[in-house]
Amino acid sequence: MNITRQWMEEQLGETLVQRGEKCLLRGQVRRMDVLDQGRGVQGHVEGHGGVMQSVFVEMDEGGIEGDCSCSTGYHCEHVAAMLLAMNE
Ligand SMILES: [Zn+2]
Repeated sequence: MNITRQWMEEQLGETLVQRGEKCLLRGQVRRMDVLDQGRGVQGHVEGHGGVMQSVFVEMDEGGIEGDCSCSTGYHCEHVAAMLLAMNE
């Protein structure tokens, strides 16, 4: 599936996408594995204080199903960073 930034912003909100972008630019996305046929992505993103967060994201035209080990749990900047990394 081809995802656009606009679609991501619709799903996660502009603020989260911007925060995710900062994570990505700082090199905090440490591991990224694209799932079968691009239906999602999983990996590790370094969060606050250097704590590594496990991120798992599935998506389809209907939206994003995100899961993260951080306290937010889903729809967080780590999920956004992972999607942006996948899209690069
Ligand atoms: Zn998170």
